Amino acid sequence: MDFYITTPIYYVNDRPHIGHAYTTIVADAIARWREAQGEQVIFSTGVDENSQKTVDAAKKANEEIRAYTDRMAEIWQEAWAKLGIANTDFIRTTEERHLETVREIWGRIDAAGDLYRGTYEGLYCKGHEAFIKESDLVDGLCPEHRTAPEVVKEQNYFFKLSEYQEKLLRFYDEHDEFVVPANRFREVRAFVEQGLEDISFSREGKEWGIPVPNDPHQAIYVWADALVNYVTVRGIEGWEEHPADVHAVGKDILRFHAVIWPAMLMSAGLPLPGQIAANGFITNGGVKMSKSLGNGVDPLDLAARYGVDALRYFLLREIQYGEDGDYTEEKMRVRYNADLANGLGNFAARVLALAERESFDGVPGMKDGVPGEEFSGVIAAMRRGVDGKMAAFRLGDALAAIWDAVSFGDRYVNEKKVWEIKDDAARREALLGLVLLLEAIASALAPFMPETSRKIAAAVSRERGVIHIKRPDALFPRISS
Ligand SMILES: [Zn+2]
Repeated sequence: MDFYITTPIYYVNDRPHIGHAYTTIVADAIARWREAQGEQVIFSTGVDENSQKTVDAAKKANEEIRAYTDRMAEIWQEAWAKLGIANTDFIRTTEERHLETVREIWGRIDAAGDLYRGTYEGLYCKGHEAFIKESDLVDGLCPEHRTAPEVVKEQNYFFKLSEYQEKLLRFYDEHDEFVVPANRFREVRAFVEQGLEDISFSREGKEWGIPVPNDPHQAIYVWADALVNYVTVRGIEGWEEHPADVHAVGKDILRFHAVIWPAMLMSAGLPLPGQIAANGFITNGGVKMSKSLGNGVDPLDLAARYGVDALRYFLLREIQYGEDGDYTEEKMRVRYNADLANGLGNFAARVLALAERESFDGVPGMKDGVPGEEFSGVIAAMRRGVDGKMAAFRLGDALAAIWDAVSFGDRYVNEKKVWEIKDDAARREALLGLVLLLEAIASALAPFMPETSRKIAAAVSRERGVIHIKRPDALFPRISS
């Protein structure tokens, strides 16, 4: 195994919304890009089932918890399959392998002397699965969930997070790309510099969740359980050998991943992940999406209407990774028509239509399939662009590098008026260059738009060194606006 990337595990009682889809598509594109470099990749996603929310949702749905979580886990897996997600593992936190790993890590943290019993008094927001500060409330309600937090006073196990302030800061100093993008890393650092408080790591007498070893009246706090999933996927030894290279997360859970998780791993004597990559939020026409507003955008609905690859393209191209982005139907249509229907789709259709009529037998350069200098320069620049931008999590810019090659191809067809070139050998040579450029574009697109990449690649076949073209149906039929 060369590369290990994860998404968060999502609450099983949620429905996949566009935010989940975005984080997961980003991780998928990175995983596929690594694989295209010849690396062996583990890509995990999954669901968090050990939360009080699950119990409440099952009750509401009038189902046994187990039947409910089985049904919901299936919904998540189907959604990812529909969005072309090629995860290699799907973890559910009720699996035995996970319970074992959580108990093992809890035991290590306990053995390190980092757990103690104490009384906790605070305001607990169920929606957050976390205690929230009184100063964060608006009219007595959690501003995000618009519910009143419970006043909780109970005996808990505490994790000595306060002991890890210096160690974390030193670690950040030594790993200056631990959190990307850099502005989020600065926020994390500023938060840790203010000083860290010990945190409650268990809840009293819960009916669901993983019991604290040797203290069945306490259940392990959902985050102390959920974060461990990343180790579970590899097993303790596997993680020791090669921890996660990238945890892809949303910015709302960055602190859990960049502060609590590394401290837990330090305490347990385990290596730390390579990077935490945090994406921003997606708004709907500038408005935050929320259940109460009912303005959520369903990624499966968009995929059904525009195509999976169009959705993947929109999210990866339109949103600058790390920053907040905005979705509107209008933006989606503009991207679709301009970049896909008129851009890539039109270029592919033109080249394939012109090339379909040609016989490429005996064209110079045909034998080894090496395009002319002009084309090979453009192809090399595109590949360098994609690799450089991907390494820096600039996925939109990586796509832009591919679209530069599409624009070059378009210009070439127009300026040379390829269809009018009378000399057979010269016309075929120009078309051969375009076909090879299109193939290179298809291959560069594979991590981002796997289906489109396959369709283009399938249009070009070789038989004893001779190229045959079979034009596919329109890749992106125009949508009237
Ligand atoms: Zn809340």
